[in-house]
Amino acid sequence: MITVRCKKCNATITSLHEHDYKACGCSNQTYVKGDIIGGNNLDHIVQVNTPRKEPELKLGTEAPRKRKTRLIDVDIR
Ligand SMILES: [Zn+2]
Repeated sequence: MITVRCKKCNATITSLHEHDYKACGCSNQTYVKGDIIGGNNLDHIVQVNTPRKEPELKLGTEAPRKRKTRLIDVDIR
């Protein structure tokens, strides 16, 4: 769960779970989906909080979770 703020349009968007895609809608196209933050210019995006710790050192636990996500996405489509 990540909350980001778009400094261009002052919108605050929160991704509630890893399939929750939220975008601010302005020209910067700030978006957040799970742990992924993006937009045309990252300088306009501020991450408000990170309740979850960065799992950078735990690559072994991250891999199976990504695989699971893909299977669910295929199922929906
Ligand atoms: Zn915006």
